[in-house]
Amino acid sequence: MFDVSIERLVRGGHLEESRAARTQFLWDEIRRLKRDKHAFIPAHNYQVPEVQAIADTVGDSFELAVRARNVDARLVVFCGVRFMAEGCYTLAPHLPVYLPSQRALCSLAEVDADELEERQEFLRGLGRKFVTMTYVNTYADVKALSDACCTSSNAVRIAERLAAPDILFVPDQNLAYQVAFKTKRTYLPPPDPHAFHPKEYRERIEPLLREGERQGLVGNVFAWEGACHVHHNMTVADIATIRRDDPTAVVIVHGEVRPELQQAADEVMSTSQMAKYVETHPEKTRLAILTECGLVVRLELEHPEKQFYKPCRLCEHMKAIDLENVYLTLRDEPPECRVTVPEEVRAGAARAMERMIELAT
Ligand code: SF4
Repeated sequence: MFDVSIERLVRGGHLEESRAARTQFLWDEIRRLKRDKHAFIPAHNYQVPEVQAIADTVGDSFELAVRARNVDARLVVFCGVRFMAEGCYTLAPHLPVYLPSQRALCSLAEVDADELEERQEFLRGLGRKFVTMTYVNTYADVKALSDACCTSSNAVRIAERLAAPDILFVPDQNLAYQVAFKTKRTYLPPPDPHAFHPKEYRERIEPLLREGERQGLVGNVFAWEGACHVHHNMTVADIATIRRDDPTAVVIVHGEVRPELQQAADEVMSTSQMAKYVETHPEKTRLAILTECGLVVRLELEHPEKQFYKPCRLCEHMKAIDLENVYLTLRDEPPECRVTVPEEVRAGAARAMERMIELAT
């Protein structure tokens, strides 16, 4: 839970003064409706602070997925993006789950399930013994084709616990790099987006496979060609500027940034790991956190004693959720905002998500 006052939001420049009265009205109404309707509101760490403030729980995608399983409520209004609301429904199909905006999508999650089946077939044709690990930032049809899901907080642990030398990692190519690096596997870069040519790809990866074998590595990570536009557009120059201006600041990056940024940073973490790090390291007073701005803004409000450098970026999909559409969704329960998945797909996706929870905890 995130506790903040309107006055603090205005003082910190996070809310225009002219919006203060309306925000207070929306907070009061949302809290009243939540009680009356026995509703549950989860919010992702990237939501704006005034939305995080009315949530029942705030966290990263793994935490929100785990909490969705045991929700005691009559309905859920999910403050995040569509794949998260879908994941909530996948694990708690007895609950009506609503997403307040149709624009709350995710550039990373757009994976074509047919293309995934083609890639799996290709790897089988090469005789590879592989598992398919799917980041939760995907839709249910892709999750259903996977052996296990993962998030940035548990991808390495799950890769270590799955008993297969090779991993087809879908869809984030940068997190795939982190998994390969930390589990001592060869990282096989992805083909160009929507341009998978089996022969060309095979010619490109074969020397890398041979080199990995020569070095005695555990196996290989075949990266998919996806990337989060928010993190993928961050640059090494962002880190170099911070290092130049304040060499003692701690630089923490998200696992979705490019490999060269992961190498240049002090830590690579998920959003909730970042929040925990800030909380449990009182001696670290100057930090640069490279992820979406929503988390950094909340950390600033929670830790006024610390200084945060902000080479963060906004995700317009996350910012499609606001107090106005949360209020209207909770009040009216509009059918077009309800998120469901066909049962046969949901069951497959649930299996992969449950496997993640089992392996990660
Ligand atoms: S920050 Fe990136 S991964 Fe997260 S919802 Fe936005 S586009 Fe998707």
